[in-house]
Amino acid sequence: MKYILALDAGTTSVRAVLYDVKTGTPVHIVQQEVGQSFPQPGWVEQDANEIFYKSAYVLNSCVSFAGAENIAGIGITNQRETVVLWNRKTGEPVCPAIVWQCRRTSGYCAEIPADMREKIKKKTGLIPDAYFSASKIRWCLDNVPAARKLYREGNLCAGTVDSYLVFKLTEGKAFATDCTNASRTMLFDIHTLRWDKELLDYFGIGEEILPELRPSDARMGETTFGGLRIPVAGVAGDQQAALFGQACLSRGDCKITYGTGLFMLFNTGETCVSSESGLLTTVGYSLEKKTVYALEGSAFNAGSSVQWLRDNLGFIRSSGESEELALTVPDTGGVCFVPAFTGLGAPHWRSDARGLLTGITRGTGTAHIVRAVLESIAYGARELSDCMQKDSGICLREIRCDGGASANNFLMQFQADLLGITVNRPAVRESTSLGAALLCACSLGIIGEEEVLSLRKSEKIFRPSENRENFETHYRNYQLAVKRALLN
Ligand code: ADP
Repeated sequence: MKYILALDAGTTSVRAVLYDVKTGTPVHIVQQEVGQSFPQPGWVEQDANEIFYKSAYVLNSCVSFAGAENIAGIGITNQRETVVLWNRKTGEPVCPAIVWQCRRTSGYCAEIPADMREKIKKKTGLIPDAYFSASKIRWCLDNVPAARKLYREGNLCAGTVDSYLVFKLTEGKAFATDCTNASRTMLFDIHTLRWDKELLDYFGIGEEILPELRPSDARMGETTFGGLRIPVAGVAGDQQAALFGQACLSRGDCKITYGTGLFMLFNTGETCVSSESGLLTTVGYSLEKKTVYALEGSAFNAGSSVQWLRDNLGFIRSSGESEELALTVPDTGGVCFVPAFTGLGAPHWRSDARGLLTGITRGTGTAHIVRAVLESIAYGARELSDCMQKDSGICLREIRCDGGASANNFLMQFQADLLGITVNRPAVRESTSLGAALLCACSLGIIGEEEVLSLRKSEKIFRPSENRENFETHYRNYQLAVKRALLN
């Protein structure tokens, strides 16, 4: 058994990545784009059938490449919060999947009374919002007659994308989810690791339509490829899988994914830290033996600002070019950028805020603006890291980075300088799928938690410079610009 296969069911694509078990290196990747539809302003849907067929296709391609007999198991990681409702007897979805970005239930969520909001926060670690699964399931029960009919007949299944894929891959034998995915539904008590009766009653969702709860390293069942049975084992939501893939296994370990947006997860150990700063508390990963919690913060726009420089302003031809251009000037010349294209996330939570460029003079050139955009990504992470340290009382020691924009050396060095700690970039930047593969390997007993650490190799370590005073001044300027963006 040479390989573990990881299925990464993301929002824009599904990918299967074949990992060499001994070295934790990817040896083969197959990817398929997945469509999205936007039937009304603010609505985002996907076809769950398409997600499954394309997942089966990419898995099949990797199995053909390696030979089913050489694959020890399949691990799954997925876009979180998105809900699928399907017929328990046939496995057929009853309506389009409602994607995490979909805002159709924001009115409903705004009406959740204050005492219930408080309860939700205490029990689930989440800030009540349309983003999470509960109100999306409620919407389907209210608006899809076929879902209601199946519900009455006892034949309805409702779950996140992982549970649907597990159900389909095991031909309906397993209807289960892992605790990281469950912790994004707003129906799950992160302290007891159970579906919460009071929340289920509030949203009018019967526990019988939800999947069974399992640890992230559980063996979910088996699937068949080429007549051979392969275990499906190891499941986690994408950000949590990245935390595991980055071997952030100790209290105080932290990873930042610099993708279209920015996602920061901070391991708080077996203690569940409640945030006073607008961060989320979530299950980092749950193993048979223990549950590890994390604080989570995200910025809606990070790499997307670099795309904006490229596609809207035409300042650069490729995202990579931003690095070269930023380095042609010693600083931004006083220019500050706030990437609030779609509002500001944690810790501000202001969807009405809009972007801002401040400090422009007659001497301002494209390089200054490009540099200010890259710096704004690092400032966003600094805001989150200050909150995380304050909420938890734990010092950040290092950032483990991944995602498309982590390729930018200027940005990573600036981040190290701004935070005053090292930024560590791994050799395998596929942290999400690697995390699923490692959870699978742990589940099958091929490796233990200790080996996860030794399998992570650094590609480059960015160390903070000696003199960091200027960075603090720049950061204060950024904070002033944010204040102005919030006045909008
Ligand atoms: P996602 O998974 O969120 O779609 P990726 O992790 O693939 O995103 O990262 C893509 C983002 O990274 C894009 O927004 C792109 O502009 C940005 N990006 C890619 N390379 C660089 C680079 N060298 N410098 C800055 N940004 C980059």
